[in-house]
Amino acid sequence: MRSDNKRIYLCLAHMSGKEQDYIKEAFDTNWVVPLGPNVDGFEKDLESFIGQNKRVVVLASGTAAVHLSLIAAGVTAGDEVITQSFTFCASSHPITYLGATPVFVDSESDTWNMDPDLLEEAIKDRIAKTGKKPKAILPVALYGMPYQVDRIFEIAKKYDIQVIEDAAEGFGSRYNGQVLGTFGKYGILSFNGNKMITTSGGGAVIANTDDEWREIMMYATQYRESYPYYQHEKIGYNYRLSNICAGIGRGQMFVLDEHLAHHKHVQKSYEELFADVPGITVHRQPNTGEYDSNYWLSTITIDPSLRIKGQENAYKTIVNGAVGGAAGVIHKAKSATTDCQPNDNVEALRQFLDQAGVEARPVWKPMHKQPVYKQAPAYINGVSEAKFKIGLCLPTGPCVSDDDVKYIVDTIKDAIVG
Ligand SMILES: *Cc1c(COP(=O)(O)O)cnc(C)c1O
Repeated sequence: MRSDNKRIYLCLAHMSGKEQDYIKEAFDTNWVVPLGPNVDGFEKDLESFIGQNKRVVVLASGTAAVHLSLIAAGVTAGDEVITQSFTFCASSHPITYLGATPVFVDSESDTWNMDPDLLEEAIKDRIAKTGKKPKAILPVALYGMPYQVDRIFEIAKKYDIQVIEDAAEGFGSRYNGQVLGTFGKYGILSFNGNKMITTSGGGAVIANTDDEWREIMMYATQYRESYPYYQHEKIGYNYRLSNICAGIGRGQMFVLDEHLAHHKHVQKSYEELFADVPGITVHRQPNTGEYDSNYWLSTITIDPSLRIKGQENAYKTIVNGAVGGAAGVIHKAKSATTDCQPNDNVEALRQFLDQAGVEARPVWKPMHKQPVYKQAPAYINGVSEAKFKIGLCLPTGPCVSDDDVKYIVDTIKDAIVG
């Protein structure tokens, strides 16, 4: 543990101080509802940051943004939607909300995102097997890293399939200078507590036209037609962002650039400090010029031959409480391991860091390895499962100082037996 007893978290929220002014204004003017000046103001702020003449609808969560984008893209029961297997469940769960089927595509090892070759193979095979084209392609900017935008869009264009970009982790990341989430039919952002900026919980859809924007807005507000009474012609949702939360978002826009610079700085420090540590590799963006990752989380991979202190005890006890889960209501795990988990040395390193006051987490367990998706079609090359076994996310957020990074790297060096 550090001498000051400070715990270092992956990505803690960090405020500009202006959030409370917007919240106070909302209370003072009695706009304590899921619409109002902060909601409109936050959308305008996002639109001016994003550029490209895009329109933005802010919502109660990033998951809601995925859900409404799929609806607006015309996904209905019986359709298939291709998404990345290596992701958080919010990319694929909303596909199932609609009675549609997620088709999982594995990653390439440069960006850890959707493999374009496998994507094309999946499209061809789905057409051959089902007689129809997948309704949409949903690539994910894992840990903020841009996917291979050019290749994925080239394939989407070739087969005339719309793209919904999950840039929930990639807010402010760019490809060829253009903000992620602005290339596709719709783009998704998340403002959950641990993302690049936060509204405590929240998300957004980026749309291309005023009509699309209006349609998403209708779905987000129970699809109310304009009559003096309630008239509904389609099923809608109660997904609009609260005016209080939007106040936090407006305040957060003042620190967005600072956060982006900070995450990149922390990544660079990890790259430098791990350069001479054998067995530890920092995952970095391809240096071909197109990529500008926000490095939402820095990730390392740990060589399977590296020995870590306490490794012999990894997975010997059942962990209580899921990562980020609902405290107290998590099911008790039946066993310490499942069909597939990070290697013993990765788990030992996670525990060693935890005891030293540092939060580290395994990378996302691929969706095609999740019991809930065992029936879903999957096009697999082994990359995401291999990264899951050797990967670890390290603290990267705005509250992580240079001293913290040095402490984390020194702790990891200390954990290495050889
Ligand atoms: C965070 C996240 C989302 C949206 O999640 P919310 O917590 O609902 O805002 C979607 N996709 C990915 C990949 C994410 O990491």
